[in-house]
Amino acid sequence: MTRNLKVPALVLKVNPVGENHRGLAMLVSGEGLLHPFAYGAQGKRSALRGTAVPYNRGIADLHFDGARNRWRLTAFDPVDTHDGLREDLDRFYTATTWAEILLKTHGAGEDSAELFELAATAFSMLSSSAPRDIKRLHVGFLWQFLDIEGVRPNPEQCGRCGKVLPIGGSDGPARFLPNGLLTGPECAENRWPALPDGARRWLMTISGEALEVAVKIGLAPGAVTAAENWLLTIIQTLLERPLRSIRK
Ligand SMILES: [Zn+2]
Repeated sequence: MTRNLKVPALVLKVNPVGENHRGLAMLVSGEGLLHPFAYGAQGKRSALRGTAVPYNRGIADLHFDGARNRWRLTAFDPVDTHDGLREDLDRFYTATTWAEILLKTHGAGEDSAELFELAATAFSMLSSSAPRDIKRLHVGFLWQFLDIEGVRPNPEQCGRCGKVLPIGGSDGPARFLPNGLLTGPECAENRWPALPDGARRWLMTISGEALEVAVKIGLAPGAVTAAENWLLTIIQTLLERPLRSIRK
């Protein structure tokens, strides 16, 4: 079986293969994560040499060779080269973490067009993000990602006893276990990290909102950091391994 596609795609990773070729990992709209081979892409005269690089998004010409069971990238027309990612370390490291999450979670399934849309929007916004907005954008991306993957927890419920966890209650903040399970104060130990009510309210507010809207809603820096830690803990539990790209 052979197939030819001309589809929106985001380059997540590139590996040289031999002297001349390149192996890629791409998030492809409607297809999920593919690993096409690009013949000659390392060569000086190849158009792919400069275009098929992380984290370019564009239109990919892909050919599936059924006999070899292999995808080939034959052309790539960049739409957004995200130059701003290379101009700022915080932007760049955030992009690296997103790419690692997308690579390790397969990016496949029925919702891969939705996942592609989220990634495309998030990388474009990150590329021109003001320094003060980067962390909120990051947390917003992680939160929407968990929703698309179908594993987003309810921030208003204790994961241990099921009790409703009111925002603005007087019993102290919610806390989360080393596996990311959110608990109310009645089930928590004080040594577990707290998730401030402001962070839970913010996550509730941005649920179902576009990232462009979510990032405009303010949140105190300490609460942003707590929310980031919670969501990265959940994602690493899902992956069953630590993310390498997280800066301590
Ligand atoms: Zn409880």
